[in-house]
Amino acid sequence: MSTTYDELPEGACAVCDMTAFMRCSSCHREFYCGKEHQREDWPRHKDHCKAYEVLESPELGRHLVARRDLKPDEIIFSEAPIVWGPTAHLNDRVCVGCGKLGAYVARCPGCAWPACRHACDGLVDEAIHGFECKVLAAAKLLPRCDLLLALRCLVMRNKQPKRWRQLMKLSSHLESRGPGSEAHEETQKAIEYLRPFLQIDSELEKLLPQVCGIIDVNGLETNPPDGSMAIYEAACLLEHDCLPNTRLTFDPDTRGVPRINVIAVRDIKKGEHLSTSYTHVLWSTRMRREHLLSTKYFTCKCKRCADPTELDSHVGTLKCPCGKGYVTPDHPLKPDSDWSCKECPGLLSAGEVAQLTDRLGEEVEAAMSVPQKDIMTDLLMRLMVLLHPCHQHCLTIGHSMLQMLDPADPKKLELCERLLQTFDKVDPHGARLGVYYAIALRELATCPGQDKSQLLRRAIHYLRYEPKGTSGYVLREVCEADVFA
Ligand SMILES: [Zn+2]
Ligand SMILES: [Zn+2]
Ligand SMILES: [Zn+2]
Ligand SMILES: [Zn+2]
Ligand SMILES: [Zn+2]
Ligand SMILES: [Zn+2]
Repeated sequence: MSTTYDELPEGACAVCDMTAFMRCSSCHREFYCGKEHQREDWPRHKDHCKAYEVLESPELGRHLVARRDLKPDEIIFSEAPIVWGPTAHLNDRVCVGCGKLGAYVARCPGCAWPACRHACDGLVDEAIHGFECKVLAAAKLLPRCDLLLALRCLVMRNKQPKRWRQLMKLSSHLESRGPGSEAHEETQKAIEYLRPFLQIDSELEKLLPQVCGIIDVNGLETNPPDGSMAIYEAACLLEHDCLPNTRLTFDPDTRGVPRINVIAVRDIKKGEHLSTSYTHVLWSTRMRREHLLSTKYFTCKCKRCADPTELDSHVGTLKCPCGKGYVTPDHPLKPDSDWSCKECPGLLSAGEVAQLTDRLGEEVEAAMSVPQKDIMTDLLMRLMVLLHPCHQHCLTIGHSMLQMLDPADPKKLELCERLLQTFDKVDPHGARLGVYYAIALRELATCPGQDKSQLLRRAIHYLRYEPKGTSGYVLREVCEADVFA
């Protein structure tokens, strides 16, 4: 295993440069020959020392708080995963050595699980696949990449006890995953499949439900590498907020292990909680909250969720048949709240709203599966009779119609502006919608009378974190070519 910076035994004192063995106990990054030089250096070092701390409260459990003021685009911290592997529900093959996706025919010489090639370095790297290879070989399981991550966690219990302890500290929400739940059914299927392996140790079968819970609740989908999921000691403690103050990027090290960077998207004051979003920012409050409840087992009460207009974005707002007003929930945090019009006594029950939006959602999905300009134009017209023009469904159709509309068509300009205004409200720093912003800006740049170069530069800015090999990265190259053409 390679030594990380944190494990170096000695360094040079930050003040006098002498060999030093004492280090800052908070960030572990700075060495000092003694207390005196540490105290002397503190006024300088405090701005570079660890930027967050882990706090605990009965309501939130363990969570992260800024230890000092943070600037936009500042990397708050960066860490290697406790464990990573293919995402569950994956049908493709993943190399067990490097995590890359592919239709591989090669196999690991040790255990016969899929590999990109016989000589992939990760196969013999103790920290990646080496530690589990013999165990997989002995269990003689038919390789199933979607269950490798759970398997990997269980192997860690004996082979990497320190990492195993870090993993077991994370929440699993086992209490919500009992008999009758979908999670329980899936865990039972995993037990069936893993039986030959679980028989090695009677404890393993009992631990598997908890491990599956930890993966579902904490696993972050990485990109790059695409198709993998990783669990981190600190990043997994980020709270959810529908308007998060950080963005996450992934950066594979030389061995392909995906380090995570947690980056501030705006000014963050000392003492503020650090947050990310575990759901889609273009979904309406009802959809976001239902998704969070069913996958992460909590109900969000953030500023956006508590606002009937969703921060004035109206992503969930309906149009009233009276023709004058819009219909919003009276108590947005109560799932069974009535919805009412501000201009007339009109009232809809929560059930009626759900039925209407779900039915329209199905129509949107059907239209999106074979995108045709006429069908979509027609559907958008009908949606706008029943929904606010900035409703989630109108945005979905509108966004995919952008490229079909002629720049001279005034509808194109109107759509671009409406989309951009909504993005500014639900994701003002482009933490999640970078690609959406860029597409709308690039299309707007084709419309007559626009400052093309300025719009394209903005698009490039929103795409600055897009990883190589993704469509967002390609889009940035296209925008760069356009702006310098
Ligand atoms: Zn010194
Ligand atoms: Zn420090
Ligand atoms: Zn490989
Ligand atoms: Zn192997
Ligand atoms: Zn929320
Ligand atoms: Zn009305």
